[in-house]
Amino acid sequence: MATTIAPPGSGVETKPLTLFSLDTSTDALRIVPLGGVEEFGMNMTCYEVGEERIVVDCGAMFPDADMLGVDLVIPDVSCLLAAPERLKAIVLTHAHDDHIGALPYLLPDLQVPVYGTPLTLAFLRSKLEEFDLLDRVEMIQLEYDAPVRIGRHFEIQAIHVTHSVPDAASLAIRTPAGIVVHTGDYKIDYAPVTGGLFDFSSLAKLGDEGVLALVADSTNAEIPGSTHTERWVRRHLEPIFATSNRAIFCTTFSTSVHRLQVLMDLAVEFDRMIFVAGRSFERTLGIASELGYLRPPRDRIRPLRDIELAPPAKRLILATGSQGEPLSVMSRLAVGEHRQLEVQEGDTIILSARVIPGHLRPISRMTNHFYKRGARVFDSLTSKVHASGHACSEEMKTMISMVRPRYLIPVHGELRQLMAHRDIALGLGFDPASIFIITDGDVLELNDRRAGVVNKVMTGHVLVDGKTIGETGEVVLRDRQHLSEDGILMAILNVDRQTGALINEPEIVTRGFVYVDESEELINELRHLVRESFESCPKEVREDPDVLNAEIRRALRKFIRRNYDRYPVILPVVQEL
Ligand SMILES: [Zn+2]
Repeated sequence: MATTIAPPGSGVETKPLTLFSLDTSTDALRIVPLGGVEEFGMNMTCYEVGEERIVVDCGAMFPDADMLGVDLVIPDVSCLLAAPERLKAIVLTHAHDDHIGALPYLLPDLQVPVYGTPLTLAFLRSKLEEFDLLDRVEMIQLEYDAPVRIGRHFEIQAIHVTHSVPDAASLAIRTPAGIVVHTGDYKIDYAPVTGGLFDFSSLAKLGDEGVLALVADSTNAEIPGSTHTERWVRRHLEPIFATSNRAIFCTTFSTSVHRLQVLMDLAVEFDRMIFVAGRSFERTLGIASELGYLRPPRDRIRPLRDIELAPPAKRLILATGSQGEPLSVMSRLAVGEHRQLEVQEGDTIILSARVIPGHLRPISRMTNHFYKRGARVFDSLTSKVHASGHACSEEMKTMISMVRPRYLIPVHGELRQLMAHRDIALGLGFDPASIFIITDGDVLELNDRRAGVVNKVMTGHVLVDGKTIGETGEVVLRDRQHLSEDGILMAILNVDRQTGALINEPEIVTRGFVYVDESEELINELRHLVRESFESCPKEVREDPDVLNAEIRRALRKFIRRNYDRYPVILPVVQEL
C-alpha cells in the first residue's frame, strides 16, 4: 500500500482544517482529491467555492492480496467532517465500487443528498439496503443535459459517456470561477452493446463555451491507440464457445453489464442454459434488466438447483470471483469446495476480466487448480477475452481536443499514468505550466489570474474489516486511532509441505488485544480453534494459503466477537516448511 497511515511528523497535516484556503471569495475554485490520485481506486474529489463544497464520487479500494486482515479501504474524510455544514452534495459519475463503494460507510456521517444517473442510483440503493441505510439517504436522479443547481455556487450537468458499466457520466461543473469537466471513467465505444452513445456533442459544446479545467481519467494513459470494444470481445469469445463441448464457467466483474449481455447472447447463439452463481451477479441481473440495460433471455436462465436438468455441454455458468477472492464462487470451484457445482475434465473456464495489480497471485493459483482438474482456461493475459473500460492515449487526445481546457489535472492512476497523461497533453501542444500533477490532499486553487497548490489537507486510508462475501456482522472501521486500540492477533501455522499436516500446535501471538499472562486459557482456546478449522478444511484448501487464511480468519473473528466482543486485526500466517 503506497500511502498507509501517515505517522505523526511525516509532513502531512494531521489536524483537520476547516478551511481549505484563506481565499473565501467566490471567484476562486479549489480542487482537492481525497483519494484516487497516485493510487488506483478510492476515487473521491472535493470541489470548493467560497464556503461551499461538493464531492464527486466516494469510492472504495480493494486491498491487495498481501494486505492481510483488511476487507476494504476507504478514504479518510476528516477534512470534510471538520466543517460538515459546508458540504452540499455528493455527485456520482457511475456505479463502480471504486466510485461509490465507500458511501455506506461515510454517508451516516456526511449526511448530504447524493446525485447520480438512474443505474448508478439503483446500484447504490441496493448497497444501502444491505446496510439498512436506505431510509436515511436522499437520492436525486440526474438527467442528461438537464443541469441541476447545488448550493449557491455549483451547477452540475451529466454528460453520457461509455464505460464498462452503462449510464456512466462525465460531469460539467459550472462555478463562478469557470467550468470544470470531470470525466469520471470513460472510454470511447462507438457502438456500445447496451445503453446510450458517447455524447461528443455536449463535450464539444462545452469546449466552445470555454473550460477552465479538465479533471480526467488516466488509467490507461500508457497504452497507445484505442481501447477495444465489447463487440471485439464477443468476436474472440465466439470461437471459445464454438469449441467447448462441455460446461463453460465464466466470470467477470459483477457490474460489467455489457459483458453479461455479450455472454448471454452467446448462450443463445450456442444453445446453452444460463446458471447464475453468486449474489452480486444476481443483483446486477435484477437491477440492470429492470432499468432496461440488460435484455436477458428469460427462458434460458435457470436457478442453480436445476443444474442437472441441462447436460454439461448445454451449460453456461456465470460465476463471481474474477480476482480469485478467497471465498468467491470461482475460488471455491477451483478447490472443489462449491456445494452445487463442480469443474470437471474438459470444462472451459473463462476469466473475462482484467487482472487487478496485486491479485495476480491468487488468480494464478486459482488457474493452476483449474488446470489440475483438467479444464481449459482462458484469461485476459493469454486470450482476447476482456476489453478495458478506460480510454487509451488516442481517446484521451480526443477528450482533450474536444474540451480544450485551460488546465489539465490528470487523476485516477499512479504517478506513472498521471505522467503519461501529461505527455499526451504536451504532445498536443499543451503548455507544461497548464498541467497540474497533484496528489491526494493537495488544494489546487484556480481563478482568472493564477493557479497553484495553496495548501494540503489530511487524507489517508481507513481500513474496513468485516464485510467479507457471504458474511454478515458488524463492520469495523480502522483509522489511525482504532488501529492502536483494537490490538492485533496473529495465528502462526507451521505446515509440512510434503504431507500437508500441521508440524506443531498453532502459535498465537497478540499485541494490545489481551495480556497474555492473564489469559492462558483464552490462548489455548484460540489454538484449539485454529487447529480445528485447519483440520476441517479439505486438502486442496489447505494447499491454498489465501483461502486457508480467509477460513481461519473467519473462524477466529466469529469466536472473538461472540465471546469477547472485541475486534482485533487478525492475521493468520501459514508457513510451509
Ligand atoms: Zn469505472
